[in-house]
Amino acid sequence: MKINLFLSNILHKLKSIAMANYRVNKNSFTNPKGDNEVHNEGCVHYSQLTNYEYLGDFVNCIGAVQAAKYKGYKADGCIKCCPLCHKE
Ligand SMILES: [Zn+2]
Repeated sequence: MKINLFLSNILHKLKSIAMANYRVNKNSFTNPKGDNEVHNEGCVHYSQLTNYEYLGDFVNCIGAVQAAKYKGYKADGCIKCCPLCHKE
């Protein structure tokens, strides 16, 4: 029982290190290219989004941008928090 609790604490910590929560901006007019920018919870823009859709937890921006595209957004990674997925 104690070991299970110990392991679940470790798993919880690992998950919080490896995963981040992502949001896509529904307002594409704020982007010069008209893209729906994807941000993670570590980004300054994340908490400033007023019109967004929750994408979920991902290990990196690649999955998050794919999820946003699947939902029909013209998604692109934010240059600040998702430089790996920032295409334009
Ligand atoms: Zn961002």
